[in-house]
Amino acid sequence: MKRIKTIETVGQADKTVLIKGWVNVRRNMGKIAFLDIRDRWGILQVVAVPAELDEDSQKILNNIRPEFVLSIEGIVQKRGEKQINKDLATGTVEVLAKKIEILSEAETPPFEIDNEERQAGEDLRLKHRYLDLRHERMKNNIVARDNVIMFFREWLHKNDFVEIQTPILSKSTPEGARDYLVPSRLHPGNFFALPQAPQQYKQLLMVAGMDRYFQVAPCFRDEDARADRSPGEFYQLDMEMSFMTQEEILDLTEKMFTEMVETLFPEKKITSKPWPRIDYDEAMKKYGNDKPDLRKDKNDPNELAFSWIVNFPLFAKQTEEDKFHGAGDTRGPSHNMFTMPKEEDIPLLDSDPGKAKAYQHDLALNGFEVGGGAVRIHDMKIQEKVWDLIGFTDEQKKQFQHYFEAFKYGVPPHGGIAPGLDRLMMVLLGEKNLKEVTAFPLTSDGRDPMMDSPSPVDKAQLDELGLEIKKK
Ligand code: ASP
Repeated sequence: MKRIKTIETVGQADKTVLIKGWVNVRRNMGKIAFLDIRDRWGILQVVAVPAELDEDSQKILNNIRPEFVLSIEGIVQKRGEKQINKDLATGTVEVLAKKIEILSEAETPPFEIDNEERQAGEDLRLKHRYLDLRHERMKNNIVARDNVIMFFREWLHKNDFVEIQTPILSKSTPEGARDYLVPSRLHPGNFFALPQAPQQYKQLLMVAGMDRYFQVAPCFRDEDARADRSPGEFYQLDMEMSFMTQEEILDLTEKMFTEMVETLFPEKKITSKPWPRIDYDEAMKKYGNDKPDLRKDKNDPNELAFSWIVNFPLFAKQTEEDKFHGAGDTRGPSHNMFTMPKEEDIPLLDSDPGKAKAYQHDLALNGFEVGGGAVRIHDMKIQEKVWDLIGFTDEQKKQFQHYFEAFKYGVPPHGGIAPGLDRLMMVLLGEKNLKEVTAFPLTSDGRDPMMDSPSPVDKAQLDELGLEIKKK
């Protein structure tokens, strides 16, 4: 017999079915045992009455405990009016077990599954993430994330985008954070860097004539964690388009997001359509930040207030963290060093660069920055000027030799955006922490207690790489 999902038992009254899943709860009523069986689709009540079971099943019935994995053959029964459980999607039926097989036994878990009130601490949850993900809320979050990514993928394909994987073993891209370095065995003393974002690759794909690119892209930044920033890695919906104005990029993104929300989260309402476009200066003056929370009712979990922040200054004062750009100390790019100044402000690069405005756009949602992007410089003369202004040395410019080279051969005007998927999901699902929407996140101090990483490596491994660990 083919296994069916618990949810599929609804409407199958009197049929014999086979279901498989975990014991969520076991309740004994005299000789009868009620087993709530959980699979990805829900929970189903199974009634085990010894007299109805075959001999082998009768023998094991008493051994069954929570989190055992079972295979159950039985007959679907309609529940009486009074027995209907409105809290369960399968609440109109139950299965009368005829044959039960234990597929896997389980020890008592280190924390209760499906008891949100008594949630374990972060370390314990992450150490046993596979158990933590059995929580209905966590499972739903991970599935919702998949739904959103699938929606974007399909939408973008329908709109002529191509999904392209760019390298993970890459070279440091100056996105403003510290790199994760990967030592090269074949080229001792040399390092790859994990990409902070596929910024240069996506621009080079525009040079290649790909026209519209996207990627569900892992990005690696060696930064300290905050509730709205993961340590280590996060995912962006990285997009780049050729021959598009900033307005067209914003329109396309806005349309895709609006359709996604209306399709997948019909209970949510978007505060203003079209989304307000706010000048950076105005946002700073009026709200004191560049990711304003424009919700009318901040207590309404279903309100989504999107806005675009535009007209950023091209340059911003460097913070300590920004210095990892490798650029000068005083002036750094507000977004990144490839951002195009407004045409009318190009002369200001020579006279008063601090006043120049850029084609940068940030996407704000309920007080969070959920994406950023820009129209890029496609004229190397302007690019060099920007590099000079942020204090690039000739040595630093040399690191972009490939860029100089590529830009000699016909570069389409282009631009893009990269919405952060983790942050977007956190806001959409009303979670307070990125960990709640990520399957296997690191702890706040950048460890994985489940895999026990980062971890030391063998001396032999280090020798092969020509590395030695300095004792602190
Ligand atoms: N690569 C940029 C970032 O990660 C986004 C973009 O400009 O498209 O912030």
